Amino acid sequence: MRVLVTGAAGFIGYHLAALLLDEGHEVVGLDSHNDYYDPALKAAREARLTSRPGYHPIRGKLEQPGLLAELFARHRPQAVVHLAAQAGVRHSIDKPRAYVEANLQGSFELLEAARAHPPAHLLMASTSSVYGANTAMPYRETDKVDTQMSFYAATKKANEAMAHSYAHLYGLPVTVFRFFTVYGPWGRPDMAPYLFTSAILRGEPIKVFNHGDMRRDFTYVGDLVRAIRLLIDVPPVRPDSAEAIQPGDSLSPVAPWRAVNIGNGESVPLLDFIAAIEDAAGVSAVKQMLPMQPGDVPATWADTTLLRRLTGYAPRTSVRDGLRAYVAWFRDYYGAPAE
Ligand code: NAD
Repeated sequence: MRVLVTGAAGFIGYHLAALLLDEGHEVVGLDSHNDYYDPALKAAREARLTSRPGYHPIRGKLEQPGLLAELFARHRPQAVVHLAAQAGVRHSIDKPRAYVEANLQGSFELLEAARAHPPAHLLMASTSSVYGANTAMPYRETDKVDTQMSFYAATKKANEAMAHSYAHLYGLPVTVFRFFTVYGPWGRPDMAPYLFTSAILRGEPIKVFNHGDMRRDFTYVGDLVRAIRLLIDVPPVRPDSAEAIQPGDSLSPVAPWRAVNIGNGESVPLLDFIAAIEDAAGVSAVKQMLPMQPGDVPATWADTTLLRRLTGYAPRTSVRDGLRAYVAWFRDYYGAPAE
């Protein structure tokens, strides 16, 4: 199979592309290598893919006129996994324009290219942030979304709606994933697992928001990309044609469209997560307790019933094991002091 992965030099895209290459698939990897965080990390991830047979790197922006149209016409991907985006809740408060360009304009160009050359399945990344301050736990795909707290979430919800409309109007089979805080080797330097690990290893204080009263459904990247891989093989069909709609499903009643949570299915207290980093690092954290940050929510928790039903998926990696792998990678990559 030939798969287009957008954001292939990014954290999740890199792991997904590597998994697809392991299975012998061809991967076309698009990425702009923007400087939202250290481009050297993106170059290092991509170098590990480019050295492998079956990988075709393309450097460019989604929203660059004609780029995706030409790419789809030339490579005719059978599956498309759209991960390229401007991510980050906090950054979206200061720099909303970047989210309009990459997430709205960029995803529109992708949908247009897919309309002209439809893949068998288009899968795209959304986020648990679309649930906003929803307090009904765990989050189900059919829950009300609430995106007023973050412009990032607003653009991701808009992406979901745009894709739903293309599924309805043009019969494009679309799966939208709602990811829950992903961590693991090659992780993003703007996210809490990196910020905590980096500070703990250097003996510097870590910032703990909401005075530590936070819970997150932390998802190990190896588990997450396995779930994506399984979903590629089960495109949604119009429920009236074959796949029976079940009560509470997020499958659209008229379009081949669905939203699926991909999480670990557990809501872990932030202080337990920090304790697991301390154990893996062999160093105690100095905690600076702070109030809640704008845009943040106190807890997330994924209901993964739909994912399990569609794919049989179950997570394999505990937070302790996942963080051991992360801290070992961190020391190796950044040359941080050994225990
Ligand atoms: P990432 O920032 O590491 O990867 C995104 C990649 O896309 C980057 O390499 C970047 O250079 C590229 N990119 C950005 N804008 C682009 C554009 N306009 N054109 C081409 N390339 C562009 O992020 P990630 O953590 O790998 O996230 C992947 C997807 O998953 C994103 O859509 C993100 O919003 C979503 N997501 C991630 C998490 C998480 O915890 N990591 C949680 C929820 C949702």
